Amino acid sequence: MIRCTNCVLPSCFPQIEIDDEGVCNYCRSGYKSMAHRYTDGLDGLVKRLERLRLQYVQNDDYDCVVALSGGRDSSYVAYYVSRVLKLRPLLFVNDNGFMPPQTRENIQRIAETLDTEVVVKSHDMRQLAGKAIACWVKKPSAAMIGTFCTGCMVGIHGGLMKVVREYNVRLVLHGGGGELASLGTTFPLQLLTSSMEFSKRRLLLGFARNLASNPRYAMSPKLLGGAIQEAYYRYYFRSFNRKELKMVSLYNFVDWNEKEVTETIKREFGWERPEYCTNDWRTDCRLHRVKEYLYLESCGFTKNDVMLSTMIRRGEITRDAALERLEKENDVSAKYVAMICDDLGVEFGDVHAAVEKLKHQSAPELVQIQADELEN
Ligand SMILES: [Zn+2]
Repeated sequence: MIRCTNCVLPSCFPQIEIDDEGVCNYCRSGYKSMAHRYTDGLDGLVKRLERLRLQYVQNDDYDCVVALSGGRDSSYVAYYVSRVLKLRPLLFVNDNGFMPPQTRENIQRIAETLDTEVVVKSHDMRQLAGKAIACWVKKPSAAMIGTFCTGCMVGIHGGLMKVVREYNVRLVLHGGGGELASLGTTFPLQLLTSSMEFSKRRLLLGFARNLASNPRYAMSPKLLGGAIQEAYYRYYFRSFNRKELKMVSLYNFVDWNEKEVTETIKREFGWERPEYCTNDWRTDCRLHRVKEYLYLESCGFTKNDVMLSTMIRRGEITRDAALERLEKENDVSAKYVAMICDDLGVEFGDVHAAVEKLKHQSAPELVQIQADELEN
């Protein structure tokens, strides 16, 4: 596999162009990403949150809600809010039906350590995911792997709304979006829109194109209804509820540093990743493992390639170290994926056959590049 000689993005990555010097357009763009947008320091953040607290919180016991998944980044947010910002967080967890037992344990430990309450709301999306995968295997497309998560934002934002109303704590801190959505982490959207520039119109067109080529999705009223609901909660919910709910991503204010984040949560909470996970990112959802498996097997990369590439550009890791990590970390257990498929009523054999089909679809270009490489 050919990779950019500066970062580790592979030549099969969406919208990548590798120039004569072997450097990709993502590196050439000079985009550092993950740099926080607000630079008024810790004091500025404390003042800003105090102002928001007065405006959005009417509760004697809590200063804010922390949207916690039990994964790496939101666990650090819970720590930072409580221990550094000295705020009293109420923990909100959305249980999407794919939460690993280890993640539940992490959440429990975080609540106990911070001596606070955790409110769990359930929005089980297993049935929807099972239906989506069953449609997908009939006509696999890399662009549609991202849509298996349909229902997740409904659960997160819908559950959050209930909690903030119940407790009158309308200020929410979370660890998503913002800087972690660095250039390239949006590749599932890039696959769907065939573009690096995101717009809702492009997304809708890409989705419609995929529905037209595999109408099975549209023929399931549950799936189609779920997709419409998900689009609302993902792209419109926040702007419609601005007055009632204030959401703040911590990493827009605080630098995300992998070493600092993981060392802190392990030290403070005894945080652990599930034993079948080979890296620390998105360990909070079993469905994410299925998607990683599919991306890796059919496209040859995962979000991990993007994260490590971004870290190289930021000077946090060497390219050699990143390559070594890819070797170890880009490894999803087929046995584990088969187990999840079994839970969802999907034949793993069908999934495997679909992946093979997809591999062959993108094969000509890859074969060409590898042949050129051999000649040189
Ligand atoms: Zn690059």
